[in-house]
Amino acid sequence: MTQKSPLATTLEIASPTAAKKARVFSGIQPTGELHLGNYLGAVRTWRQQIEEGKDETMFCIVDAHGITMPYEPADLRKNIDAFAIDLVACGVDPEKTTLFVQSDVREHTELAWYLAAATPKGDLERMTQFKDKGEGKDFVSTALFTYPVLMSADILLYKATVVPVGEDQLQHLELARETVRRFNHRFPGEIFPEPQPRLSSTPRIMGLDGESKMSKSKGNTITLFENKDEFWNKLRTAFTDPQRLRKSDPGRPEICNIYTMHKAVSPKETQDDVVANCTGAKWGCVECKKVLFENFDKELVPLRTKRAELSMDKVRQALGDGASKARRIARETIKEVRSVMGLGSLAQE
Ligand code: ADP
Repeated sequence: MTQKSPLATTLEIASPTAAKKARVFSGIQPTGELHLGNYLGAVRTWRQQIEEGKDETMFCIVDAHGITMPYEPADLRKNIDAFAIDLVACGVDPEKTTLFVQSDVREHTELAWYLAAATPKGDLERMTQFKDKGEGKDFVSTALFTYPVLMSADILLYKATVVPVGEDQLQHLELARETVRRFNHRFPGEIFPEPQPRLSSTPRIMGLDGESKMSKSKGNTITLFENKDEFWNKLRTAFTDPQRLRKSDPGRPEICNIYTMHKAVSPKETQDDVVANCTGAKWGCVECKKVLFENFDKELVPLRTKRAELSMDKVRQALGDGASKARRIARETIKEVRSVMGLGSLAQE
C-alpha cells in the first residue's frame, strides 16, 4: 500500500480567494542551531512549497531579528553561514527559490520604521513572545519590543500572501494582517495584500523539558544535524506523559510530544502502533522513542548527505544572487510606500 507522506497532511489556512500565483515568504533567525521544531514546524513546509512549484517562494535568514537579544557579532556571522548551509541541505534549494539574508536588503528596516508609524503601541504590548523573551532579563532592547513590526515589514515588502510558520508566529502574523488593514485604510492604493499563515501538520513541537515549545533561546532543543549518538541521548531523556510512571501505566499519546513527532516522521501504521501500544501499556516510552529515532534517521540521512556535499562558497554566492532578486522587488514596494505616505523630496522620485 502506498504511504501518504506526512507532508501531504499540511494544513492550509490560506483563503481560496488568494491571488492565483501566491507569493510565499518566510524567515528564520540565525541564532543557535536549526532544530527539530524549526524543521517540522516550518522548514519542511518551505521545501514542500518549493517542490510543488505552484507559487513563487522567498525564504530569508532574518539576521536583523537575531540582534534583538544580547548576542556576539562573530557568532551571528558564523550562524548566518551555518543556517544557509543547513537550509539548502533541507531542500531550500536556491536554484528553485529565492534564499537571502535580511540585512542584505536594507529596505526591510526602512519599511519597518514606516510601518511602526501605523502600528499602535498597545498592539505590541499584547505580544506574548515579547513578554516571554523579555521576562526577568536585565536588558530588554527596544528592538525586541518592535520585532513584530520588522516581521510585518519582511512579509509586506514582498507583498507575500502566504507565510508558512509554526504556531508561535500566528500572533505576529495576525498583527501583520491588522497592519495591512490599517495601512490600506489610511493611505490610498491598497498597496498591501493580507498575508495568510500556513501551518504544517506539526505546528508546535514541545522542548525536551516538556515545559515550553522547542526553541533556540530555551536550550531545550534537538538540533537537526546533531550527531546520531547525541541525538539519541537527547531523545531518550525527552519528557513524555507525566502520568506514565511505569511501563504498565497506560499512556496518553494525544498529550505526548513523542507521538506528535511520530505523526511528523513515521508511517501511518507505525503511528497506529504507537497509539495501540502506548494506550495498551505494551511499549515503554524508551521503546517508542527508539522507533521514532529510526524514523528520524530515515528522514535525515538524505539531508546529512546533501549537507556534506555543499560548498560554502557556492551557497554564499547564491545568497548574493537571492539578495539582488529580493532587492528588485523591495525597491519597487518602498517607492510606492514613500509615495503614498508623502515621504521624501520629489527630486528622488
Ligand atoms: P526559535 O524560536 O527557535 O528561535 P525562529 O523564531 O527562528 O525559531 O522560528 C523559525 C520558524 O520555526 C518559525 O516559523 C517558527 O514558527 C518555527 N518554529 C520555531 N520553533 C518551533 C516549534 N517548537 N515548533 C514548531 N515550529 C517552530
